[in-house]
Amino acid sequence: PRDSGEAIDEAELALEGALRPTSLDEFVGQQKVRGQMKLLLDAARIQDRAADHILLSGPPGLGKTTLAMIVAHESGHPLRLSSGPAIQHAGDLAALLSSLTPGEVLFIDEIHRMARSAEEMLYLAMEDFRIDIMVGKGAGATSIPLELAPFTLVGATTRSGLLPNPLRDRFGFTAHLEYYDAEELEQVVGRSATVLGVDLPAAARAEIGRRSRGTPRIANRLLRRVRDYALVHGGGSGASIEDVRAALELYDVDPIGLDRLDRAVLDALVRRFRGGPVGLSTLAVSVGEEPETVESVVEPYLVRIGFMGRTPRGRIAMPEAYAHLGVAHPAGSAL
Ligand code: ATP
Repeated sequence: PRDSGEAIDEAELALEGALRPTSLDEFVGQQKVRGQMKLLLDAARIQDRAADHILLSGPPGLGKTTLAMIVAHESGHPLRLSSGPAIQHAGDLAALLSSLTPGEVLFIDEIHRMARSAEEMLYLAMEDFRIDIMVGKGAGATSIPLELAPFTLVGATTRSGLLPNPLRDRFGFTAHLEYYDAEELEQVVGRSATVLGVDLPAAARAEIGRRSRGTPRIANRLLRRVRDYALVHGGGSGASIEDVRAALELYDVDPIGLDRLDRAVLDALVRRFRGGPVGLSTLAVSVGEEPETVESVVEPYLVRIGFMGRTPRGRIAMPEAYAHLGVAHPAGSAL
């Protein structure tokens, strides 16, 4: 959540936790991945061993953390949460790994941002449940082997291409999470509305689903804003389609779910750079964002809905983007 440009406070985080499904059956969508994961977990259970290591890739908010929690829950082992940026030295990782209990599930979010030295230690740990700890310096340095408890690593990354091959190859199973379709998001909204005790007609659920950028986390967040709006303006525990529209307008979510940053990027691409091609960093600077955020949060969705294209010379705007912004397409005016 941290790198998606969203400010989430403690109360929101607690709510997000309450909305998480705890089993594969409750997890909406991603049918293929769910089936594959179920097989992996069932096989481990039959052989009474730790499940194979799992790599999850995809844009933020599609359920990577939730799946890691489900792996732990379904295998009946505890879950340890960490992240790449928190592992800046091999020693950080050694401390983490050596404290794992047998079968424990270790989740490393943003695993591509881990220190190089730790990465190398992780290769051996994943393969042989063993690490070598270096003690001393210079000529007197020795390495002491340390046996680890068998564990399951669940790594998450926004793009698996960011991982070095030797690391990627050591995962027994790699899954790419796709954006959710409108119907699946409607289901997520329905499930969360029940948990939150919000009475929501089907049309309102569908409207929130359609405007969630294919992302369950966003669906849940919009639902909470709609609930707030209905509470303040309607006074009851239900929300109507009008409440949905008014709340989402207040929060700058446009009719197809694009938020302010999405529109700023599109606007820069279409107006300032005349449709491109323009390089990623130039585009990011022009909207005051980090290139990584634009690349991993904004772009994948704009590409997916056919508004933006990636070419070897840079990013380009597609005709649909012009239409959405109400700007005449240059090719259109020449016809
Ligand atoms: P990040 O990588 O940014 O941490 P993430 O991919 O790990 O994001 P999660 O934190 O797992 O995303 O999910 C965000 C929220 O969306 C959670 O509150 C969870 O309840 C909900 N959610 C995600 N996927 C699903 C799903 N398939 N079904 C129901 N709810 C989901």
